[in-house]
This record gives sequence, C-alpha cells and structure tokens, in this order.
Amino acid sequence: MRRLIYTSRSLVPPSEIDQIMASSLRNNDHVGVTGMLWAWDDWFAQVLEGDFEQVSATMRRIRADPRHTDIEVLLDREVMCRQFGSWSMREADDGEATAFMVGFARCERSNGAQRLYDIVVSSLGR
Ligand code: FAD
Repeated sequence: MRRLIYTSRSLVPPSEIDQIMASSLRNNDHVGVTGMLWAWDDWFAQVLEGDFEQVSATMRRIRADPRHTDIEVLLDREVMCRQFGSWSMREADDGEATAFMVGFARCERSNGAQRLYDIVVSSLGR
C-alpha cells in the first residue's frame, strides 16, 4: 500500500473544487485509490492511498492538470494500511482530517512539511 502526500497552489476559484471532487470520486473508486483533498486560500494538500501503480497513474493526471501549479511531494512511501480507507476522495472539512495533516506535518523534517504545518494552523483561525 502506497501513501503519497503533496501540496500545490490553486489557479482556480474555490467553486472549481466540486468539479475536481466529482472526477476524483468517479476515477478513484474504479481503481481503489482513497484519500482526502484539503483546500484553503490558494493551497491544496492531498493524500492519495492505494496500489503503487494506481497512485502513479492518478498522480500523472493530477500533475498534468492546469488548475494548479507548484506541486511538491512531501511524502511518498509504503504504508501498512490506509488512513482514509472509506473515502474514494473526501474534501477535508472536519477535525479528523485537519488533525491528520497537523500531526503529519509537525513530525516531518522537510521545509515543505513545515510550510504545510504553518498553512494548516493558520487556516484554523479562519
Ligand atoms: P474529466 O474530469 O472529465 O476532465 C476532462 C479533462 O478536462 C481533463 O484533462 C481535466 O484535467 C480537464 N479539465 C476539466 N475541468 C477543467 C477546468 N476547469 N480547467 C482546465 N481543465 C479542466 N483526479 C483523480 O482522478 N483523482 C484525484 O484524486 C484527483 N485529485 C485532484 C486534486 C487536485 C488538486 C486537482 C487540481 C485535480 C485532481 N484530479 C484528480 C483531477 C485530475 O487532475 C484530472 O483532471 C482528472 O483525473 C481527469 O479525469 P477524467 O479523465 O475523468 O476527466
């Protein structure tokens, strides 16, 4: 089982997220990819979990999408189980997803993870 987490900068208004979620739900459900999409201000952060090749194929499409830019992979590794197993893709808008992001970002060394931590924490005061 592979888990990949990335951040990117949105180039579209928040109203586009519904369309992104619709194609994500449709496509991910077919190939057993699960995860969550978090959006705030002009930032996206996404967790993708699933079979190695299916996560690669999903990520190839996401990288080619003109609706965002500056994709930075913060984590890409094998894991024992899914964190977001019940959702083909879920828009992160609750405490559980936020807690996961904060917990992940706080414990990683990279500058990207530190930046994600700062972004998620600042979003809590919105
Ligand atoms: P459709 O959704 O039917 O779209 C057809 C084509 O039009 C695609 O090439 C699409 O990129 C493009 N397109 C659609 N709307 C717009 C628009 N408003 N502006 C520019 N181009 C547009 N896809 C997944 O399958 N799983 C995911 O988890 C996932 N997460 C995403 C997260 C983010 C932050 C973003 C920006 C996109 C994500 N996508 C995801 C969408 C992905 O990038 C592809 O657009 C999608 O997988 C293509 O699905 P489709 O072949 O069913 O095409």
